Order: sequence, then structure tokens, then C-alpha cells
Amino acid sequence: MSEEANPFESLQEQVDDAAEFLDVRSDLLERLKHPERILETNLTVEMDDGSLEVFKAFRSQFNGDRGPYKGGIRYHPGVSRDEVKALSGWMVYKTAVVDIPYGGGKGGIVVDPREYSDGEVERLTRAFANELRPIIGEDTDIPAPDVNTGQREMNWIKDTYETLENTTAPGVITGKAPDSGGSAGRVEATGRSTMLTAREAFDYLDKDIEGATVAVQGYGNAGSIAARLIEEELGGTVVAASDSSGAIYNADGFDAAAAKDYKDETGSVTGFSQAAEELTNEELLTLDVDLLIPAALENAIDADLAEDVQADVVVEAANGPITPDADDVLTERDVEVLPDILANAGGVTVSYFEWVQNRQRFYWTEQRVNDELERVITEAFDALTDAYEEKGTPNFRTAAYVVAIERVVKAYQQGGTWP
Ligand code: GLU
Repeated sequence: MSEEANPFESLQEQVDDAAEFLDVRSDLLERLKHPERILETNLTVEMDDGSLEVFKAFRSQFNGDRGPYKGGIRYHPGVSRDEVKALSGWMVYKTAVVDIPYGGGKGGIVVDPREYSDGEVERLTRAFANELRPIIGEDTDIPAPDVNTGQREMNWIKDTYETLENTTAPGVITGKAPDSGGSAGRVEATGRSTMLTAREAFDYLDKDIEGATVAVQGYGNAGSIAARLIEEELGGTVVAASDSSGAIYNADGFDAAAAKDYKDETGSVTGFSQAAEELTNEELLTLDVDLLIPAALENAIDADLAEDVQADVVVEAANGPITPDADDVLTERDVEVLPDILANAGGVTVSYFEWVQNRQRFYWTEQRVNDELERVITEAFDALTDAYEEKGTPNFRTAAYVVAIERVVKAYQQGGTWP
């Protein structure tokens, strides 16, 4: 096993890889490789037994040239300053590639929320919201859900912010429950853009998605919904799924929605009745399938593992699941990778729709949300493949960065340097 890649170095390498195909000054590129600022804070929270615990938390504001900083908040024991920096940078290029008027940011708390009661998680969340209050706002920095956070945490952050500010400002955060100003279709949005990206990619590559076999690493919100939509809307056959408990496999396929229901009931995919056998995570990632969807965390596929990937196409639902070294191996081996900054951009795109609805106080139907999302993703896919063909980039990721960096640089240059 090679040494674990540092996600922040991966991000910088991805920008450098695109530089070769861009007519952009190196000093301009340098500022696109570092966050503008980072809040690091230690949150003191009262536990149910009256004791106090201190949690480290971060918010990185990477770049605001195209609009307010935008990006989720993650609760995970693996959160670190460098991880949050990388994730905030990926948000800059994600919002640019789908051309929505935001910059990029990201936050995280070093915590495994499963080890704490609901009351403790609420107090922790409100403590973080209190620290974030001076730097977030509807027009400045707009957080959202990420790994292990969802509507519940977003509703608490909105409530804390509005209470402290003595106002109503639902657009300060996205991914809220519909009754608290959330948008129809937001929960499904990341899985939906993964499905749409797979559809467009198979079409572009002249491959049939109908009947294609699909393996999904990570069966949370993004992975399980992508699996279900690929099965329901495109006729793909989901043959494997995994989570931290292990992986399940059935060569004839299984019901993707039923597997998710089983996971919701029992806490894991293993033991699901339609599974013919159980695999390790590594066996799942190297299955001979038409489509592989990494939908868990960073660095799932390193250079060693990339040598053994048998899938024809990989669509990244997670952020940063393939290291730059692994990317080189997959490019060399003609495995087509559709990058995270396009494939999982449905989440932030519907966050943008949520924010627009919040600002207008006028709410859309789910159909309208899904139609607008499809338009955004297909237009972004076309921009990416145009760059891929015109610039001759070695893979789709570098093409996506070329499109995104050009847009960010244009916005920066139009504003000029000050002071
Ligand atoms: N956390 C999601 C992402 O990585 C969504 C961010 C957002 O909605 O702002 O794209």
C-alpha cells in the first residue's frame, strides 16, 4: 500500500495538471492553490452527564471570486485542516464547472457523531454556528450538508444564526428540511447528478447504460440514491454495494432501494437477503463491472489499487476518491473517469436553487428542480467534453479543471487586484 495521499496536495496537483492546457500566468494560478482564509476553533460542549468536551472545528474560505463561499460541513473523526482546505478548493472548481455564481468553502468538526446523543450533537452544532456567525451570511458564506450532516444540523444552524442576528435569513444555509425553507429534490440531488453524469458519459463513449453492471462503494446518501436512479431511470443493474461493514455482491443484480431500506433498518448493507456473496471493499473496487461509483471518502483508489480496477467507467460521487497517482494509472489504462467536480455537483447546484428560492420566498416544484438540474449538468458535461476535444487533455478531470479555472481567473481579472 502506498502512503496515504494528502488531499490538499492532490488538489494542488490537479490545478497544476490543468495549467499546461491553460493560457494563464503562473502567479495567477498560485493564488488558486491556497485558501483565502481559515477559521480554526475549539468548541467546548457540555455532555449529558455534565462534563465538558472540546472539539476542533474548521471553516476554510478558499476563493470568493465568483460569489459567496459555498460548501458543506462534515462531521468525521478524520477531519483535518488539510482535508478541509482541499474540500473547500474542490468546491471552487465544482461551482465554476457547473457555472453557478458561488466561490468555494468547506467546514468540518473532528467528531464521530454516532458516539454522542442527539442533545450533545445539537449543542455541538449550535456552538459551531455561534463561531461561524461572524463569517457566514446569505451573501458571504453559505454552508450546507456533507458527510454525517443533514437537514437536522442545517435547521439548527439556521435557527442559531437567525436567533443571534434577530432576523430571518433562510438562505444563510442550504440543505434544510422543506418546512424550514429547504428545496424539493435537494436530498436526491447528489445521486441525481451522478446518474446524469453516468448517462451522458456512456452516451458520449458510445456505451449502453441499459443493462450495464454497476458497483457502488459507499451506500450513504449519494451512493444509494445514484444506484437507485441508475436502476430506475437508466435500466442499469446494480451488482455490488459497500459500506464500512463490508460489501455485498450478486452477479444478477439486486434491488438498490431495498438494499438501502435494509441498511437504514440494520445500520449496514451486509446481511441483505438479495446478496449472493460478501466481498471486501478492495474486491468491490476491482470488480469487472461496466460502471464503478466511489461514493465514500477521499483516497479510496490509490495507484496500487488503480492497477487492478476492471471497470470501464468510473463516476466519482465522493469528493477526491482517486489520488493523482491513481489518476495517472487509470488514464494510462484507458479507464474513463468522470470527476467529482462534475458528477457530484448536483448537491451544490440544488443548494443554489434552494438559496434562490429562499431569497425570492417563492418555492419550486420537484419537477422544476430536477429539470433545471438536468440542464445544468448536461451543459457542464458539454463544456467539459468540448475542452477535452479542443485542448486534447489526457482525461476528463483535467478538462473539467481547464473549464473551471478559466472561469475563476476571468472573474478575478475583471475585478482586478486590490489593494
Ligand atoms: N457537501 C456537498 C459537496 O461536497 C454540497 C455542498 C453544498 O451544497 O453547498 O458538494
